[in-house]
Amino acid sequence: MDKQQDFVLRTIEERGVKFVRLWFTDVVGTLKSVAIAPAEVEGAFTEGIGFDGSAIEGLTRVQESDLLARPDPSTFQLLPWRGDVDPTARMFCDLVTPDGEPAVADPRNVLKRTLSKAADAGFTFYTHPEIEFYLFKPGPRDQVPTPVDQAGYFDNVPGGTAHDFRRRAVRMLEELGISVEYSHHEAGPGQNEIDLRYADGLTMADNIMTFRTVVKEVAIEQGVHATFMPKPIATEPGSGMHTHMSLFEGDSNAFYDPSAPHQLSTTGRRFIAGLLKHAGEISLVLNQFVNSYKRLWGGDEAPSYITWGHSNRSALVRVPMYKPGKGQSARIEHRGIDSAANPYLAYALFVAAGLKGIEEEYELPAEAEDNVWALSAGERRALGYESLPMSLDYAIGQMEDSELVAETLGEQVFRYVLANKRREFEQYRSQVTSLELLTTLDVV
Ligand code: GLU
Ligand code: MG
Ligand code: MG
Repeated sequence: MDKQQDFVLRTIEERGVKFVRLWFTDVVGTLKSVAIAPAEVEGAFTEGIGFDGSAIEGLTRVQESDLLARPDPSTFQLLPWRGDVDPTARMFCDLVTPDGEPAVADPRNVLKRTLSKAADAGFTFYTHPEIEFYLFKPGPRDQVPTPVDQAGYFDNVPGGTAHDFRRRAVRMLEELGISVEYSHHEAGPGQNEIDLRYADGLTMADNIMTFRTVVKEVAIEQGVHATFMPKPIATEPGSGMHTHMSLFEGDSNAFYDPSAPHQLSTTGRRFIAGLLKHAGEISLVLNQFVNSYKRLWGGDEAPSYITWGHSNRSALVRVPMYKPGKGQSARIEHRGIDSAANPYLAYALFVAAGLKGIEEEYELPAEAEDNVWALSAGERRALGYESLPMSLDYAIGQMEDSELVAETLGEQVFRYVLANKRREFEQYRSQVTSLELLTTLDVV
């Protein structure tokens, strides 16, 4: 037993914890959980808890289905929504094969592998996400949902559900050791945003999974329906997960150079160049559903073109301003990723694309100064602004040819994601929609 494992066992004892949930994430980004008795925890640390990997989306091939979940003691937390009676705790797990090797298809392992490549190059990756989501009144799942309020950006809604909701969620997150920077009403009716304080990439990916669970738990408590679906209402803004990121070399921010334009270092410029150059290929992971592309192409401040800018909100990547003397907070903001992405896989691809830009010394194209949406197609072409994929099938086509994505996700996850998404697109494509009936039935 190492020190952290010891600490967990002691806390379980002292706090009278009755259940310990082991959490891990499938390839789609769904949280999985198995509860074990406190007496099993020691064995879980040393050997792991076995389960059938083939029953879980994307984790194994059937012929090698046995996997073990081995808890990471540094993620031990009591679950606040379970209360003080029969306390329940959770730990995130790494998945290993029966020989003790990291499971190649475990998304957490995909991210760890990529972060260790960054570490070999001398970098630690930090992020802070702005997570948007909608709150709806309970109702049927196949109809346009009804928002809990009609408020908009930064609105203070007196006595509203949104306030209570955010207060409760923020308190729970803090009890779980996750610091929140801001929370506010977003532009859409019933839409809210909570921004988490920066952390290293692995911690943050875990935090996002916890965040989604907290939001769902609070929703159940308050009798509302919370969703991270990218574009639940066609005429309202979608839910993005803008991600601010930076690389540190030891104690210093590798994106900061006080003498450079926008104080953005060469490393920072190359990192952005990597994100832009590989934007099409990584899109299927950052925007993984048919519905994601309705957000990207639905206006309302979601990016559609592969550009970068300074204070330009139509750009895919933005270099935010920071206060003088705050060089350590130098960062870039990716505005494409949506709230339904698997954070482990998405972060792995951010890092891989950015590192590629650094290694290969990619040249950053000129910054987009104009509102890219307002330009004509011809003007955009002349400026060399390319489009993000317009729909899931374009994104599949771009990822299929990507060495970067295959190498980063590993062959098994790469193939699984493509096959799974082809299935989703095929199901979507084969529908005859009410729009087609309305526009075509009587025309021909
Ligand atoms: N909801 C917008 C999106 O889909 C972002 C709005 C904002 O700038 O916060 O990305
Ligand atoms: Mg926002
Ligand atoms: Mg933002």
